Amino acid sequence: MLLFQCTVFVVVLSVCVCVRENQLILNKCNTPFFFFFQFLISPKNGVIIFIIKSSRDTSTTMVFCCFRSRSDVLTCTPWNAPIIWEGMFDPDLYDRAHNEEGTSVALTVFAVGRYLDAYLKTFLNSSERYFMPGLPVAYYVFTDLPEKVLAIRLTPQRRLRIIKVERHSRWQDISMMRMKTISDIIESEIRHYYTHVFCFDVDQVFTGRFGSEALGDSVALLHAYYYNVAKAFYTYDNNPKSQAYMENGDFYYHAAVFGGSWKSVKALTDSCYQSILVDKERNVEALWHDESHLNKYLWLHKPSRVLSPEYCWDPIIGHRYNIRITRLEWAPKNYAQLRTS
Ligand code: UDP
Ligand code: MN
Repeated sequence: MLLFQCTVFVVVLSVCVCVRENQLILNKCNTPFFFFFQFLISPKNGVIIFIIKSSRDTSTTMVFCCFRSRSDVLTCTPWNAPIIWEGMFDPDLYDRAHNEEGTSVALTVFAVGRYLDAYLKTFLNSSERYFMPGLPVAYYVFTDLPEKVLAIRLTPQRRLRIIKVERHSRWQDISMMRMKTISDIIESEIRHYYTHVFCFDVDQVFTGRFGSEALGDSVALLHAYYYNVAKAFYTYDNNPKSQAYMENGDFYYHAAVFGGSWKSVKALTDSCYQSILVDKERNVEALWHDESHLNKYLWLHKPSRVLSPEYCWDPIIGHRYNIRITRLEWAPKNYAQLRTS
């Protein structure tokens, strides 16, 4: 329908073009002829089709142009938040703008129990290379074994804080209780020094730029396993007794990466933690723990920026035509070894 409407509109414009074109050609040719230009615009697919016809012969030339930098993927949510894909942005422009604004980023990561030896060093070394290059960054590492955190060489404008946390006996609680710890550190420290916060799982490795283009007021990540499947497959919490219960949603977000301004991450972590506490009182646990609560929160409070799965890709999935670059990858995982104490 939209395609048709645009056609009618543009045909009227085309007549003006033809008249001018005709005068030009009349000066040079004995037999006058016309060119007809027609435009078909399909905003949804990001395509303009130019149709050029000449009155001299029956031939028609069609020119296809993409006015969106990525027409193979969804680049905008229904509430007009950008979905960030490779090819959609100029990294230098983003870096310059954030430098001028004085943006600074706190990164939170948990390495409790066996996750410390297994992942932390690779995570931090790779983030030194790829995470928010050119911006001031503070790493907040939460662990039950601070003395075991190995020194890493930090580039200028970067600092590392190691904070001791208790080790919950269940891995589900280690994962869920991160919400409370993140909220507390934002309140006591981060809000005074840093404009933005990004929260990461530790079992991943940066493999490409994860830069200032990812910053926004409220940032969520499309889960690598669900970005291109029908909504019916999303694994939202399905227990009406849980605070995380939801029937409909926009996307399936991955809890391994989320971020935003300190204020919005504080609101998110506070709300998820409260929901987790209510569930505990009712003796229920959401299907995918903190991730289920995060999905519920982001359904009720839409993110202002969404990251494509380039920003957290599982290489086991293999090649996908629309994943042109991977910026952060899932590290190999032996659950049986990691989760037994
Ligand atoms: N975590 C941890 N120790 C544990 C369990 C979890 O440090 O024993 C932290 C760690 O940062 C991890 C995150 O909680 O990346 C989420 O857990 P996990 O990565 O195992 O969840 P999955 O990604 O498999 O859903
Ligand atoms: Mn993980």
